[in-house]
Amino acid sequence: MKPSFILLITALSILLTACNEDQSGSGISQAVHKSKTYNWKMVTTWPPGFPVLQEGAERFAENINVMSNGRLKIKVYAGGELIPALQTFDAVSQGTVEMGHGSAYYWAGKVPEAQFFSTVPFGMTARGMNAWLYDGGGLELWREVYKPFHVVPFPLGNTGVQMGGWFNKEINSLEDIKGLKMRIPGLGGKVFAKAGGNPVLLAGSEVYTALERNTIDATEWIGPFHDQRLGLYRAAEHYYYPGWHEPGTVLELTINQRAWDSLPADLQAIVSNAAMAENLRMFSEMEQKNMAALKELKDRPKVQIHRFPDDVLAKLKALTDETLEEEAAKDPKFKHIYEAYQTFRLQNDAWSDISENAYLAIEK
Ligand code: CA
Repeated sequence: MKPSFILLITALSILLTACNEDQSGSGISQAVHKSKTYNWKMVTTWPPGFPVLQEGAERFAENINVMSNGRLKIKVYAGGELIPALQTFDAVSQGTVEMGHGSAYYWAGKVPEAQFFSTVPFGMTARGMNAWLYDGGGLELWREVYKPFHVVPFPLGNTGVQMGGWFNKEINSLEDIKGLKMRIPGLGGKVFAKAGGNPVLLAGSEVYTALERNTIDATEWIGPFHDQRLGLYRAAEHYYYPGWHEPGTVLELTINQRAWDSLPADLQAIVSNAAMAENLRMFSEMEQKNMAALKELKDRPKVQIHRFPDDVLAKLKALTDETLEEEAAKDPKFKHIYEAYQTFRLQNDAWSDISENAYLAIEK
Protein backbone atom coordinates (compact mmCIF):
# COMPACT_ATOMS: atom_id res chain seq x y z
CA MET A 1 0.00 0.00 0.00
CA LYS A 2 1.30 3.48 -0.85
CA PRO A 3 1.87 5.78 2.15
CA SER A 4 -0.50 8.43 0.73
CA PHE A 5 -3.30 5.82 0.56
CA ILE A 6 -2.68 4.79 4.21
CA LEU A 7 -2.83 8.48 5.19
CA LEU A 8 -6.12 8.85 3.35
CA ILE A 9 -7.63 5.84 5.18
CA THR A 10 -6.41 7.16 8.54
CA ALA A 11 -7.88 10.59 7.79
CA LEU A 12 -11.18 8.98 6.73
CA SER A 13 -11.40 6.85 9.87
CA ILE A 14 -10.73 9.90 12.06
CA LEU A 15 -13.46 11.76 10.19
CA LEU A 16 -15.90 8.87 10.60
CA THR A 17 -15.18 8.63 14.32
CA ALA A 18 -15.83 12.36 14.65
CA CYS A 19 -19.11 12.01 12.76
CA ASN A 20 -20.16 9.12 14.98
CA GLU A 21 -19.42 11.16 18.04
CA ASP A 22 -21.58 13.95 16.70
CA GLN A 23 -24.46 11.59 15.97
CA SER A 24 -24.33 10.06 19.44
CA GLY A 25 -24.86 13.53 20.86
CA SER A 26 -21.76 13.31 23.04
CA GLY A 27 -18.48 15.16 22.75
CA ILE A 28 -18.12 18.41 20.86
CA SER A 29 -21.72 18.85 19.66
CA GLN A 30 -23.16 18.35 23.13
CA ALA A 31 -20.69 20.80 24.59
CA VAL A 32 -21.88 23.36 22.02
CA HIS A 33 -25.53 22.55 22.89
CA LYS A 34 -24.89 22.90 26.62
CA SER A 35 -23.31 26.31 26.31
CA LYS A 36 -26.00 27.73 24.04
CA THR A 37 -28.51 29.99 25.75
CA TYR A 38 -32.03 30.68 24.48
CA ASN A 39 -33.80 33.99 25.08
CA TRP A 40 -37.49 33.55 24.50
CA LYS A 41 -40.59 35.71 24.77
CA MET A 42 -43.93 34.56 26.17
CA VAL A 43 -47.14 36.56 25.73
CA THR A 44 -50.31 35.90 27.72
CA THR A 45 -54.00 36.70 27.47
CA TRP A 46 -54.12 38.03 31.08
CA PRO A 47 -53.98 41.59 32.40
CA PRO A 48 -50.66 42.62 34.03
CA GLY A 49 -50.31 41.15 37.53
CA PHE A 50 -53.53 39.09 37.17
CA PRO A 51 -53.48 36.81 40.25
CA VAL A 52 -52.86 33.08 39.81
CA LEU A 53 -52.97 33.07 35.98
CA GLN A 54 -50.41 35.74 35.03
CA GLU A 55 -48.49 35.03 38.23
CA GLY A 56 -48.42 31.32 37.40
CA ALA A 57 -47.09 31.98 33.90
CA GLU A 58 -44.29 34.08 35.41
CA ARG A 59 -43.48 31.42 38.03
CA PHE A 60 -43.31 28.79 35.26
CA ALA A 61 -40.77 30.94 33.34
CA GLU A 62 -38.68 31.53 36.46
CA ASN A 63 -38.64 27.80 37.31
CA ILE A 64 -37.35 27.02 33.82
CA ASN A 65 -34.63 29.64 34.21
CA VAL A 66 -33.49 28.00 37.47
CA MET A 67 -33.76 24.39 36.26
CA SER A 68 -31.90 25.10 33.03
CA ASN A 69 -29.20 27.02 34.89
CA GLY A 70 -30.00 30.10 32.82
CA ARG A 71 -29.83 28.33 29.43
CA LEU A 72 -33.50 29.02 28.68
CA LYS A 73 -34.60 32.49 29.69
CA ILE A 74 -38.25 33.41 29.09
CA LYS A 75 -39.45 37.00 29.37
CA VAL A 76 -43.20 37.07 30.08
CA TYR A 77 -45.46 39.84 28.76
CA ALA A 78 -49.07 40.28 29.94
CA GLY A 79 -51.86 40.95 27.43
CA GLY A 80 -51.34 44.28 25.68
CA GLU A 81 -47.74 44.72 26.82
CA LEU A 82 -46.23 43.41 23.59
CA ILE A 83 -49.30 42.46 21.52
CA PRO A 84 -53.08 42.55 22.17
CA ALA A 85 -54.19 39.65 24.41
CA LEU A 86 -56.30 37.89 21.81
CA GLN A 87 -53.46 37.83 19.25
CA THR A 88 -51.50 35.40 21.44
CA PHE A 89 -52.22 32.32 19.32
CA ASP A 90 -51.33 34.07 16.05
CA ALA A 91 -48.10 35.49 17.51
CA VAL A 92 -46.99 31.99 18.57
CA SER A 93 -48.17 30.48 15.28
CA GLN A 94 -46.19 33.00 13.22
CA GLY A 95 -43.13 32.78 15.47
CA THR A 96 -43.26 36.46 16.48
CA VAL A 97 -42.87 35.05 20.00
CA GLU A 98 -41.86 31.53 21.07
CA MET A 99 -44.50 30.96 23.78
CA GLY A 100 -48.03 31.91 24.77
CA HIS A 101 -50.37 31.35 27.73
CA GLY A 102 -54.16 31.55 27.50
CA SER A 103 -57.06 29.16 26.98
CA ALA A 104 -58.00 27.24 23.84
CA TYR A 105 -61.60 28.52 23.62
CA TYR A 106 -60.31 32.01 22.83
CA TRP A 107 -59.43 30.67 19.37
CA ALA A 108 -62.88 29.17 18.72
CA GLY A 109 -63.45 31.55 15.80
CA LYS A 110 -60.41 30.10 14.02
CA VAL A 111 -60.42 26.55 15.46
CA PRO A 112 -63.92 25.64 16.79
CA GLU A 113 -62.82 22.18 18.00
CA ALA A 114 -60.15 23.83 20.21
CA GLN A 115 -62.95 24.46 22.75
CA PHE A 116 -62.79 20.81 23.88
CA PHE A 117 -59.25 21.48 25.14
CA SER A 118 -60.34 24.31 27.44
CA THR A 119 -63.89 23.54 28.56
CA VAL A 120 -67.39 22.90 27.22
CA PRO A 121 -70.72 23.29 29.10
CA PHE A 122 -71.49 20.23 31.27
CA GLY A 123 -68.12 18.78 30.24
CA MET A 124 -65.37 17.23 32.34
CA THR A 125 -63.88 18.77 35.46
CA ALA A 126 -60.12 19.22 36.04
CA ARG A 127 -59.74 15.60 37.17
CA GLY A 128 -61.27 14.19 34.00
CA MET A 129 -59.47 16.68 31.76
CA ASN A 130 -56.06 15.82 33.19
CA ALA A 131 -56.77 12.10 32.81
CA TRP A 132 -57.90 12.60 29.20
CA LEU A 133 -55.09 14.94 28.19
CA TYR A 134 -52.15 13.15 29.84
CA ASP A 135 -53.23 9.52 29.63
CA GLY A 136 -56.35 9.19 27.50
CA GLY A 137 -55.07 10.41 24.13
CA GLY A 138 -56.39 13.98 24.53
CA LEU A 139 -53.01 15.71 24.27
CA GLU A 140 -52.16 13.82 21.06
CA LEU A 141 -55.46 15.01 19.55
CA TRP A 142 -54.76 18.56 20.71
CA ARG A 143 -51.30 18.46 19.04
CA GLU A 144 -52.99 17.22 15.85
CA VAL A 145 -55.48 20.13 15.95
CA TYR A 146 -52.75 22.78 16.41
CA LYS A 147 -50.22 21.19 14.00
CA PRO A 148 -51.40 23.09 10.88
CA PHE A 149 -50.74 26.30 12.84
CA HIS A 150 -47.20 25.22 13.81
CA VAL A 151 -48.15 25.39 17.48
CA VAL A 152 -47.37 22.78 20.17
CA PRO A 153 -49.84 22.86 23.13
CA PHE A 154 -49.45 21.78 26.77
CA PRO A 155 -51.96 22.02 29.65
CA LEU A 156 -50.76 24.74 32.05
CA GLY A 157 -53.28 25.43 34.79
CA ASN A 158 -56.98 24.93 35.48
CA THR A 159 -59.55 27.26 37.05
CA GLY A 160 -61.50 24.39 38.64
CA VAL A 161 -65.31 24.45 38.51
CA GLN A 162 -66.34 28.06 37.96
CA MET A 163 -69.33 29.80 39.55
CA GLY A 164 -72.62 30.22 37.66
CA GLY A 165 -72.48 33.99 37.98
CA TRP A 166 -73.99 37.08 39.59
CA PHE A 167 -77.67 37.89 38.94
CA ASN A 168 -79.69 40.97 39.89
CA LYS A 169 -82.75 38.75 40.56
CA GLU A 170 -83.48 35.21 41.69
CA ILE A 171 -83.64 32.43 39.11
CA ASN A 172 -86.46 30.14 40.20
CA SER A 173 -87.51 28.73 36.85
CA LEU A 174 -86.71 28.80 33.14
CA GLU A 175 -89.10 31.75 32.82
CA ASP A 176 -86.66 33.87 34.80
CA ILE A 177 -83.98 33.33 32.13
CA LYS A 178 -86.20 34.58 29.30
CA GLY A 179 -84.87 37.89 27.99
CA LEU A 180 -82.18 38.06 30.68
CA LYS A 181 -79.12 39.97 29.48
CA MET A 182 -76.05 38.11 30.68
CA ARG A 183 -72.37 38.38 29.92
CA ILE A 184 -71.60 34.73 29.08
CA PRO A 185 -69.20 33.92 26.25
CA GLY A 186 -68.64 30.94 23.95
CA LEU A 187 -70.73 27.76 23.78
CA GLY A 188 -72.28 28.64 27.16
CA GLY A 189 -73.61 31.81 25.53
CA LYS A 190 -75.11 29.84 22.63
CA VAL A 191 -76.87 27.50 25.06
CA PHE A 192 -78.09 30.45 27.13
CA ALA A 193 -79.58 32.01 23.97
CA LYS A 194 -81.42 28.75 23.16
CA ALA A 195 -82.89 28.88 26.68
CA GLY A 196 -84.35 32.30 25.83
CA GLY A 197 -81.61 34.40 27.41
CA ASN A 198 -79.76 37.24 25.77
CA PRO A 199 -75.99 36.59 25.89
CA VAL A 200 -73.80 39.69 25.73
CA LEU A 201 -70.12 39.79 24.84
CA LEU A 202 -68.07 42.01 27.14
CA ALA A 203 -64.38 42.16 27.97
CA GLY A 204 -63.47 41.49 31.59
CA SER A 205 -62.65 45.17 32.14
CA GLU A 206 -66.23 46.22 31.24
CA VAL A 207 -68.12 43.62 33.28
CA TYR A 208 -68.40 45.40 36.62
CA THR A 209 -69.62 48.74 35.25
CA ALA A 210 -72.16 47.07 32.93
CA LEU A 211 -73.68 45.08 35.82
CA GLU A 212 -73.57 47.98 38.24
CA ARG A 213 -75.37 50.27 35.76
CA ASN A 214 -77.91 47.56 34.82
CA THR A 215 -76.74 47.51 31.19
CA ILE A 216 -76.72 43.75 31.82
CA ASP A 217 -78.77 41.72 34.34
CA ALA A 218 -76.15 39.09 35.08
CA THR A 219 -72.57 38.07 34.48
CA GLU A 220 -70.33 35.11 34.94
CA TRP A 221 -66.62 35.65 35.58
CA ILE A 222 -64.47 32.95 37.21
CA GLY A 223 -64.84 31.82 40.83
CA PRO A 224 -65.22 33.41 44.28
CA PHE A 225 -61.61 34.68 44.41
CA HIS A 226 -61.49 36.58 41.11
CA ASP A 227 -65.18 37.57 41.33
CA GLN A 228 -64.73 39.15 44.74
CA ARG A 229 -61.58 40.94 43.58
CA LEU A 230 -63.55 42.46 40.69
CA GLY A 231 -66.14 43.69 43.23
CA LEU A 232 -69.07 41.92 41.53
CA TYR A 233 -70.83 41.41 44.89
CA ARG A 234 -71.34 45.20 44.99
CA ALA A 235 -73.16 45.17 41.62
CA ALA A 236 -75.55 42.20 42.09
CA GLU A 237 -76.53 40.18 45.13
CA HIS A 238 -77.57 36.72 43.87
CA TYR A 239 -74.57 34.46 43.37
CA TYR A 240 -75.39 31.18 41.61
CA TYR A 241 -73.63 27.82 41.37
CA PRO A 242 -72.49 25.58 39.78
CA GLY A 243 -70.72 27.00 36.71
CA TRP A 244 -72.41 24.58 34.29
CA HIS A 245 -70.89 26.48 31.34
CA GLU A 246 -67.25 26.17 32.56
CA PRO A 247 -66.78 23.06 34.71
CA GLY A 248 -62.97 23.11 34.68
CA THR A 249 -61.32 25.48 32.26
CA VAL A 250 -57.91 24.23 31.13
CA LEU A 251 -55.29 26.93 30.57
CA GLU A 252 -52.76 26.31 27.84
CA LEU A 253 -49.09 26.82 27.11
CA THR A 254 -48.47 27.17 23.40
CA ILE A 255 -45.00 26.90 21.82
CA ASN A 256 -44.01 27.73 18.26
CA GLN A 257 -43.17 24.45 16.53
CA ARG A 258 -39.82 25.60 15.10
CA ALA A 259 -38.74 27.06 18.45
CA TRP A 260 -39.71 23.81 20.20
CA ASP A 261 -37.79 21.73 17.64
CA SER A 262 -34.70 23.91 18.13
CA LEU A 263 -34.41 22.99 21.83
CA PRO A 264 -32.06 20.16 22.85
CA ALA A 265 -33.77 17.15 24.50
CA ASP A 266 -32.85 18.14 28.06
CA LEU A 267 -34.40 21.62 27.72
CA GLN A 268 -37.50 20.09 26.12
CA ALA A 269 -37.79 17.79 29.15
CA ILE A 270 -37.41 20.76 31.50
CA VAL A 271 -40.16 22.69 29.68
CA SER A 272 -42.65 19.82 29.50
CA ASN A 273 -42.12 18.81 33.14
CA ALA A 274 -42.23 22.43 34.36
CA ALA A 275 -45.55 22.77 32.47
CA MET A 276 -46.95 19.68 34.21
CA ALA A 277 -45.81 20.96 37.61
CA GLU A 278 -47.32 24.41 37.03
CA ASN A 279 -50.55 22.83 35.75
CA LEU A 280 -51.03 21.29 39.19
CA ARG A 281 -49.76 24.33 41.06
CA MET A 282 -52.15 26.81 39.41
CA PHE A 283 -55.14 24.51 39.97
CA SER A 284 -54.21 24.03 43.64
CA GLU A 285 -53.82 27.77 44.09
CA MET A 286 -57.24 28.41 42.50
CA GLU A 287 -58.86 25.88 44.84
CA GLN A 288 -57.26 27.37 47.96
CA LYS A 289 -58.01 30.98 47.01
CA ASN A 290 -61.61 30.16 46.01
CA MET A 291 -62.38 28.41 49.29
CA ALA A 292 -60.98 31.35 51.28
CA ALA A 293 -62.92 33.89 49.18
CA LEU A 294 -66.16 31.88 49.44
CA LYS A 295 -65.93 32.17 53.21
CA GLU A 296 -65.48 35.95 52.93
CA LEU A 297 -68.39 36.30 50.49
CA LYS A 298 -70.67 34.28 52.80
CA ASP A 299 -69.91 36.77 55.56
CA ARG A 300 -71.01 39.75 53.44
CA PRO A 301 -74.56 40.60 54.53
CA LYS A 302 -75.95 41.35 51.06
CA VAL A 303 -74.62 38.31 49.22
CA GLN A 304 -77.09 35.45 48.70
CA ILE A 305 -75.64 32.20 47.40
CA HIS A 306 -78.02 29.84 45.55
CA ARG A 307 -77.89 26.63 43.56
CA PHE A 308 -79.55 26.79 40.13
CA PRO A 309 -82.91 24.92 40.27
CA ASP A 310 -82.74 21.32 38.99
CA ASP A 311 -85.14 21.91 36.09
CA VAL A 312 -83.07 24.88 34.90
CA LEU A 313 -79.88 22.78 34.95
CA ALA A 314 -81.65 19.87 33.20
CA LYS A 315 -82.91 22.16 30.44
CA LEU A 316 -79.49 23.80 29.98
CA LYS A 317 -77.93 20.30 29.78
CA ALA A 318 -80.40 19.20 27.08
CA LEU A 319 -79.78 22.40 25.11
CA THR A 320 -76.01 21.87 25.45
CA ASP A 321 -76.28 18.40 23.88
CA GLU A 322 -78.37 19.90 21.07
CA THR A 323 -75.80 22.69 20.51
CA LEU A 324 -72.83 20.28 20.42
CA GLU A 325 -74.67 17.99 17.97
CA GLU A 326 -75.43 20.95 15.71
CA GLU A 327 -71.81 22.15 15.74
CA ALA A 328 -70.62 18.59 15.00
CA ALA A 329 -73.06 18.21 12.09
CA LYS A 330 -71.66 21.23 10.29
CA ASP A 331 -67.93 20.67 10.94
CA PRO A 332 -66.17 17.28 10.56
CA LYS A 333 -63.12 18.44 12.56
CA PHE A 334 -65.36 19.47 15.45
CA LYS A 335 -67.16 16.11 15.19
CA HIS A 336 -63.88 14.17 15.30
CA ILE A 337 -62.79 15.76 18.60
CA TYR A 338 -66.34 15.77 20.04
CA GLU A 339 -66.61 12.00 19.55
CA ALA A 340 -63.24 11.30 21.19
CA TYR A 341 -64.14 13.64 24.07
CA GLN A 342 -67.56 12.03 24.58
CA THR A 343 -66.15 8.49 24.58
CA PHE A 344 -63.68 9.38 27.29
CA ARG A 345 -66.16 11.49 29.20
CA LEU A 346 -68.75 8.69 29.46
CA GLN A 347 -66.12 6.33 30.93
CA ASN A 348 -64.97 9.08 33.25
CA ASP A 349 -68.56 9.72 34.41
CA ALA A 350 -69.13 6.01 35.12
CA TRP A 351 -65.95 5.80 37.19
CA SER A 352 -66.55 9.15 38.96
CA ASP A 353 -70.06 8.03 39.95
CA ILE A 354 -68.72 5.16 42.04
CA SER A 355 -65.52 6.88 43.22
CA GLU A 356 -65.33 10.66 43.84
CA ASN A 357 -69.06 11.42 43.50
CA ALA A 358 -70.15 8.47 45.66
CA TYR A 359 -67.63 9.38 48.32
CA LEU A 360 -68.57 13.06 48.34
CA ALA A 361 -72.29 12.21 48.60
CA ILE A 362 -71.79 10.56 52.01
CA GLU A 363 -73.05 12.72 54.86
CA LYS A 364 -70.00 13.63 56.93
CA1 CA B 1 -65.81 32.25 33.10
